[in-house]
Formats: sequence, structure tokens, C-alpha cells
Amino acid sequence: MKEQPTRRQVLGHAVRGATLVGLGGIATYLSLKADAEGAWRINPEACVNSRLGALGVEVCERCATECVLPLSAVRAVNDHAKCGRCFVCPAYFDVKSAIDEQRMPSRKLCPRDAIERKVIGYVDPDDPRNNLYEYTIDEKLCNGCGKCVMACKEPAGLSSIRLEVRHILCLDCNRCEIANVCPDEAYERNPGS
Ligand code: SF4
Ligand code: SF4
Ligand code: SF4
Repeated sequence: MKEQPTRRQVLGHAVRGATLVGLGGIATYLSLKADAEGAWRINPEACVNSRLGALGVEVCERCATECVLPLSAVRAVNDHAKCGRCFVCPAYFDVKSAIDEQRMPSRKLCPRDAIERKVIGYVDPDDPRNNLYEYTIDEKLCNGCGKCVMACKEPAGLSSIRLEVRHILCLDCNRCEIANVCPDEAYERNPGS
């Protein structure tokens, strides 16, 4: 005869089912929110930190300082398909800092140490300059200050880093505080599909 499930097993299945339904609901909500008509987004061709040709100018940090959230909803994102995987990435290293004993810049650029650097692919044990390096932004640490975006801009870099509003964090304020002060009017509403 088929063994009957115990009360504990039935309850366990019920809790797991409810959790999955809940997670599914959250995932659906977040994907709807990400595509939502009217969600705020940054035009990288307008933002001074990523706009080509805007060179020798101050970094704009308003995306980090003006959001109503204590940690801004804006993050830097590195497009790995565009990234040169450079040995000395000008967005990772402060290339104006003193050179250390290994002939590398002694300081990092990111004030929050939010960029991870790791060697990938075949590793040349004799010359690290021959290797490829992957640079990834840590979403938990980044506050969207834009310093790395400006530093990666062509011709110093390949413009692979840009700023994005993270829709799962953004409160979708009717009047975005950053948009209100953005000097480049780089904030736009997502027109939706
Ligand atoms: S406030 Fe505007 S110009 Fe400044 S970093 Fe943000 S999007 Fe760029
Ligand atoms: S935007 Fe600012 S905090 Fe974020 S990774 Fe770049 S330099 Fe660091
Ligand atoms: S809409 Fe509100 S929460 Fe979203 S980026 Fe703008 S100020 Fe921050």
C-alpha cells in the first residue's frame, strides 16, 4: 500500500509551494516594473559622464547625491562585449596616482571599491600584461557616482561603462529628484512598448 505523507511533509510542500508562488509573483512584478511605461532611464548620449566629446570636464555626481534613496537607485554597468579587458583599466586604477614597485598605479579610482578585477582566460605566468582582465561592478557597493564612466570614455577607454537606473530599486518618483537637477537633461521616461 502506498505510504501516506506525514503532516510535516504536507506542511513542508505547502510552504515550499507558497514560497515558489510568492517568488514567481515577485519575479513577474519586477519584470513588469523593469519594462514599465514611464520608468526613468538615463540617455548615455546626453549624460556628460558618457557623452562622447565631453572631455576635460568635471565628473557629474548628481546621480549619486540627488536620489531620494540613501543609496541611489543608479548603478554603473560595464558592457563586457565592448570592454577592452585592459591590463591598466583607467576606470579601475587611478592612473594619476603614484606608480608602485610593480610599476602599477598605486590607487584605485572608485571611492567605494565597487569594481572587481579578475584575470580571465589563458594566464601568462611570466608577463601579466599579456593577460585579459574582466571588470565587474558590484551592485551592492556602487552608488552611481559616475567617476568610472567618465574615465572609461573614449579615447582613454572604450566607453564600455555607463550609468543606469536600476528599476528594481527605483521608487519611480513622479518627479525624479535627479532628473530635476540633471544639467544635461539626460533623464527620460521609458516610453514602453
Ligand atoms: S545627473 Fe545627469 S549629467 Fe549628471 S551623472 Fe546623472 S545623468 Fe549624467
Ligand atoms: S559609478 Fe562610482 S561607485 Fe559606481 S563603480 Fe563607478 S566609480 Fe565606483
Ligand atoms: S525616480 Fe526617485 S528613486 Fe528613482 S532614481 Fe529618481 S529620485 Fe531615485
